[in-house]
Amino acid sequence: MAVQQNKVSKSRRNNRRAHDALVAGNPNECTNCGELKRPHHVCSACGHYADREVVALVEEIDLEDDAA
Ligand SMILES: [Zn+2]
Repeated sequence: MAVQQNKVSKSRRNNRRAHDALVAGNPNECTNCGELKRPHHVCSACGHYADREVVALVEEIDLEDDAA
């Protein structure tokens, strides 16, 4: 097992962790439905991208019939 040669002080440890914070995303409003979506991604709510539908969404999936 690797053993550290020198104790890392609280100050040095905390200074290292000062850059570890997660940055919140920057969501855009969908131009079709107004839902918040990731920029440059297809809207997960309506399947639109750049004012046109690129992914057709199924209203409801019946698992009983689809089970093979
Ligand atoms: Zn949308």
